[in-house]
Amino acid sequence: SPATQPVVVIDAHDLPYLNPKLSVRKRVDDLLSRMTLAEKVGQMTQAERNALKSRGDIATYALGSLLSGGGSVPSPNTAASWAAMVDTFQRSAQATRLQIPLIYGVDAVHGHNNVVGATILPHNIGLGATRDPDLARRTGEVTASEVRATGIPWDFAPCLCVVRDDRWGRAYEGYGEDPALVDAMSTVLTGMQGKADGSQLKNKDRVLASAKHYAGDGGTTYGSSTTGGYKIDQGITQVSRADLERLHLAPFKKAVDLGVGTVMPSFSSVSIDGGPAVKMHGNDELINGVLKDRMGFKGFVISDWAAIDQLPGDYASDIRTSINAGLDMIMVPARYQEFTAGLTAEVGAGRVPVSRVDDAVRRILGEKFKLGLFEKPYSDPSLLSTVGSATHRAVGREAAAKSQVLLKNEGNLLPLAPTSKVYVAGSNADDLGNQLGGWSITWQGKSGATTTGTTILAGIKEVVPSATFSADASAPLTGHDVGLVVVGERPYAEGVGDVGNGHDQSLSDADKAAVDKVCAAMKCVVLTVSGRPQVVSDQLGKINALVASWLPGTEGAGVADVLFGKKPFTGRLPVSWPRTEAQQPLNVGDATYDPQYPYGWGLTTQAAARQKLTDARNTLLRKHDPYALAAGVAASIALQVKDWSGPQATIALAALEQSAKYLDRTKADTFAEGDAVVSAARWITQTRLGQNLTEPTSKLTADAEHEALTGHLSTAVTKLTTAYNH
Ligand code: BGC
Repeated sequence: SPATQPVVVIDAHDLPYLNPKLSVRKRVDDLLSRMTLAEKVGQMTQAERNALKSRGDIATYALGSLLSGGGSVPSPNTAASWAAMVDTFQRSAQATRLQIPLIYGVDAVHGHNNVVGATILPHNIGLGATRDPDLARRTGEVTASEVRATGIPWDFAPCLCVVRDDRWGRAYEGYGEDPALVDAMSTVLTGMQGKADGSQLKNKDRVLASAKHYAGDGGTTYGSSTTGGYKIDQGITQVSRADLERLHLAPFKKAVDLGVGTVMPSFSSVSIDGGPAVKMHGNDELINGVLKDRMGFKGFVISDWAAIDQLPGDYASDIRTSINAGLDMIMVPARYQEFTAGLTAEVGAGRVPVSRVDDAVRRILGEKFKLGLFEKPYSDPSLLSTVGSATHRAVGREAAAKSQVLLKNEGNLLPLAPTSKVYVAGSNADDLGNQLGGWSITWQGKSGATTTGTTILAGIKEVVPSATFSADASAPLTGHDVGLVVVGERPYAEGVGDVGNGHDQSLSDADKAAVDKVCAAMKCVVLTVSGRPQVVSDQLGKINALVASWLPGTEGAGVADVLFGKKPFTGRLPVSWPRTEAQQPLNVGDATYDPQYPYGWGLTTQAAARQKLTDARNTLLRKHDPYALAAGVAASIALQVKDWSGPQATIALAALEQSAKYLDRTKADTFAEGDAVVSAARWITQTRLGQNLTEPTSKLTADAEHEALTGHLSTAVTKLTTAYNH
């Protein structure tokens, strides 16, 4: 309890580094000048809390950091016991000579996902589908405040991976396949850390973020490793220099500009232009050269879990190679004794320069000072009530609703009337653990009611209490208007995806049977709850409406919100939806690439698109910029066309194209307005194309999506217009 914690008296010893009025730089200089080599090496060491042989080892080895790896949770697993656990470790650090606080880290990759009762948000792939950077920022705020409330100042998130192969078991940790989308959603960093200068990190509701996994984690080649045919995770990214820059490095540059405090390298290797495969944890060129020197990253680089152990050579060589390549702190996670002895010896022998150690320690201490840990090392019990609060769950529900992507909607079956007689089936309709996915309470995640939340079925029943449910559709099927079959994956983390489901992207036999039964008996909606697209080409003909639900988190009611029209469908595909698994890896550049649904696909209502455009028009007409005004006038003309699905749709499209041209020229900040103009054009195009997507039209719409995200609005609308006229 706080009463037993030693009180940190500022200026007690009159030492400059304890004085919060001095600049971070002065404090770091002062503290560093007082540290022994052992104390410096300790700062560079991160142990897993379960691997500590005794709590006294925190002081003995002067450890700088501890972590809870996935599923390393206290008992009981409550927010209060997390806070108590972290405080207990911190007390040991506060009992050391220099009282340097520990920095505790955790994987809160979709909310504070290890903690029972916390708000668990949709996984990033679902957030990518929302195309809502402001929402991404708010999810960062929710995560940050719940994590900090448990006394933890550091989160190993976000994953900025650009996913180029759905077979990768971490596809759902990324925002999508397009670096422009990852870029747009990196506002999550602002939500987590606050201002780019780090001045808000000391606030009680911010955490230090970790952009991961640098670089190329989402581009590893299938079957390329010697350690198993399915080795796509931790494998090799074989890439041209141009693609490495464009796809995999660009998001990290953005993160550095947003002031990200730490970066975690990837387990994988990179081979540029056919050159040798170099492990990222020993990659001097990309870490020292690109990340630190070229991009100007000022925070610290934290290794991934025991990742230096994978470098060629013995442990001494692993230590030397990684630290000299620019790693600042090593997640050992159990070998802290060997690591501290090994690094000390390497420094002693002159194989790791003292200047490198000093640079690493400066970076680590700098973040600790910015976080205010020297002043407030312990948790604040008054914050515990924010964990899983109604306010945070409302953000989770909004995110779940906005992440739903309506792929097919024959005869406008959706949204359903709340008076419908509904039949619910499928393996993922009433399974909270399945809808959370991996990295939820346990590392791999787990089926069943693992925490507090609302399943999709529970959300449906809030609207239609009389809904019938049978997971395998073995109840009487007669007497219903519509069937909702919720299918998909069981949880997994890292590796190659849903192993129990046979590694591939097709539905399980049980889910196929449920779809067959329900769709034969009534009109049916299929929802896929999964971390990646599911291949449904064999079932698609009998499915009336298809929704990609991704992994929506603890707030299943958000899914019901769009099913019953409380909110419109607005989500769009963050990744291409393949026809067959043979279409992996992604190759949108390939002229013959013909997915089932293109990147960016997602049906919405005319009313929703019109509302968005009306709001944008009103904003534009208030701007003191001639181009913004002209864009507003053109948007008005598009709105004059009363029915965008009627014969005058081409007039509306032409007006939208004109509006986009003006927006391209304006100097005013019109991100949201541009999105509204493109969304209107997208609605018109998608409504006309419906299921009649051909290869060229699907490519045009996917390209339009990328153009819009990179700020080329008129090109985006032109591409959509071309697809419309095809
Ligand atoms: C994962 C990282 C994670 C780390 C710590 C590793 O297995 O690759 O993403 O941050 O574990 O739990």
